[in-house]
Amino acid sequence: MEKYKAVTLRNFREIPQIEAHLSEEEKRNIEIVGNVLPFKANNYVINELIDWENYQNDPLYILTFPQKDMLEPIHFHEMADAILGGAKKAELKLIANKIRLELNPHPAGQMEQNLPIMEEVKLTGIQHKYRETMLFFPSQGQTCHAYCTFCFRWPQFVGMNELKFAMRDIDLMIKYLRTNPAITDILFTGGDPLIMRTKVLSNYLEALIDAKIPNLRTVRLGSKALAYWPQRFVTDADADELLKLFEKAKRAGIHIAFMAHFNHPNELKTEIVEKAIDRILNSGAVIRTQSPIMRNINDDAEVWAHMWRRQVELGCIPYYMFLARDTGAQHYFACSLENAWHIFRDAYRQVSGIARTVRGPSMSAGPGKVQVLGISEVMGEQVYVLQFIQGRNPDWVARPFFAKYDPKAIWLDDLFPVFGQEKFFFEQEYPLTRKKAQAVHNGHHQLSDESLLL
Ligand SMILES: *Cc1c(COP(=O)(O)O)cnc(C)c1O
Ligand code: SF4
Repeated sequence: MEKYKAVTLRNFREIPQIEAHLSEEEKRNIEIVGNVLPFKANNYVINELIDWENYQNDPLYILTFPQKDMLEPIHFHEMADAILGGAKKAELKLIANKIRLELNPHPAGQMEQNLPIMEEVKLTGIQHKYRETMLFFPSQGQTCHAYCTFCFRWPQFVGMNELKFAMRDIDLMIKYLRTNPAITDILFTGGDPLIMRTKVLSNYLEALIDAKIPNLRTVRLGSKALAYWPQRFVTDADADELLKLFEKAKRAGIHIAFMAHFNHPNELKTEIVEKAIDRILNSGAVIRTQSPIMRNINDDAEVWAHMWRRQVELGCIPYYMFLARDTGAQHYFACSLENAWHIFRDAYRQVSGIARTVRGPSMSAGPGKVQVLGISEVMGEQVYVLQFIQGRNPDWVARPFFAKYDPKAIWLDDLFPVFGQEKFFFEQEYPLTRKKAQAVHNGHHQLSDESLLL
């Protein structure tokens, strides 16, 4: 049995592959950026997923290890000077936090709007934004097997809003489900809920099963564990127990939807991931896959087509392609709406209908999940055609609408209406704050409202 071993800022220099391949400058760059943006790898990612012969261009290396350009030069130099100048730990932390505050640590920031209140109690471990689906943040699942360098949960991982958003209280969750019969799905998210040992997870799931909530159809588990630690389902001590738990839920009429986060086909190459997928599917759970599209990692139609084909081959259902969020190192990862759409289309049109269950590219923005349907021309004007896949108001869903074409746009709040309209149709109810102008927020931190990835 392979034992999980975390690799972090503190011990990455001891990794043989790092010692063998990286220059001192590259290692220092990891330290400089890693002092601001968190990272964490593990023995499986390092030994099985990264191609060290070509690490500088390896998507999984870039996904896992901080890169110099992930910080703006001004931030990079500020931190570099402090480290090289021998600043003490406390001082480094102050500088790191100052820079972090300039990286939009809580994008969209509508947590408060999604936070349900029941009998005047704020349910801080729950978000309920879309009618059918409630997000649940179990307090023991608030970290991950590896931190992805693009992840919008970075403020949580650096302790800026630790556990603020988590919940232990199963009874409250069940009560909320009962009092909201429109909810059919509960999505366990985090962090990564499958970081929880089976015993802990089963407390939650067994309680849901025992509660026999008539409206509850689906338990979704959003997880990166299949990609970054498939041992969780094969050789970990409680792997079998986990799969039995899935079976039990299924027998009780609760569909287990495993929302697997894969960013690159290289994550689907190992024997153990195949085995893990097989075992999960044999438990009666269904695996759906999702990923953001990111420059430097997967901004290539061939990569997506390959990934979807491979997923289908393994029995998974492609589900979402997301756009990278407006937080952290977005400038490094962000793909323009236009590029993302071209890549989506070039990939989508070359796969069979079986893989075209995927939807995207989609932005998880304040008012909802907005899909870029494409670029078109109406009365001589170039426009984006968009639609809501999910809306704060379900009535917004699947109504195509237009925005002015702008090749530089990367997010919903970069977009403007066309044909003399002042607002998008949904702005009556939900005005967009064009927050680029006020990107720097002021000290109170919260987790972003989206379950973008998991
Ligand atoms: C994406 C998301 C969901 C799930 O949406 P589906 O389209 O049903 O997969 C639920 N809640 C929030 C806040 C989300 O961002
Ligand atoms: S929440 Fe998802 S994207 Fe973020 S670090 Fe964890 S696995 Fe990666």
